[in-house]
Amino acid sequence: MKFECLKCGSCCRDKRTIVTLTHRDIIRLAEATGMNEKELVRNILVFYQCDESAERLLAFPSIETYRGKAVLGLRKREDGSCVFLNNNLCSIYPSRPITCRTFPFTFSIQDGWLRYGVATRAKDLCLGLGKGREVDEKSLAEIGWKAAAEIKEYFRITSLWKRATQSGVPAIPELIIKLLLYSRSGEKLTVTR
Ligand code: SF4
Ligand code: SF4
Repeated sequence: MKFECLKCGSCCRDKRTIVTLTHRDIIRLAEATGMNEKELVRNILVFYQCDESAERLLAFPSIETYRGKAVLGLRKREDGSCVFLNNNLCSIYPSRPITCRTFPFTFSIQDGWLRYGVATRAKDLCLGLGKGREVDEKSLAEIGWKAAAEIKEYFRITSLWKRATQSGVPAIPELIIKLLLYSRSGEKLTVTR
């Protein structure tokens, strides 16, 4: 398969693409922006509501919120562009989310094997697919293992969170604080009321 990023920015402007996030992305974003958890929730993060059929299409877990199931993603402007896109360039490039690092590819680990594919939306909008050189399998596997391990860890954390919140759904800022603490220090996920 051939791929070369042509830096067209289509993936950063697509209204229909949700840039899903992991707990480690939240840390990267907090460090890149200097924002605390409340500022992140207000300015950067969005909980996109999803039903079970939508959830099955996503490689990321959902989280219970007081409005129902949702996936955590980056905020978009009204025209569909990412809040970090400036002059068609990513303003947080070294700290960009794992989804952005792997696009247009997706990865998962099944029975100990790394599986990769092309993101469904990428087939419609990514101009770089089929261009340039053959993809270097070794580099692809390297980023793939990292991404898949991070997403697997995030699945584990969200399932802990689901168990911890069985008796009710706490406020979203609390979840973000917990994710940050957990990711930084491995602190146990508990819920205080
Ligand atoms: S849509 Fe494809 S070619 Fe364009 S910036 Fe995104 S990854 Fe690169
Ligand atoms: S974080 Fe950067 S790379 Fe990712 S969608 Fe936003 S502008 Fe594009």
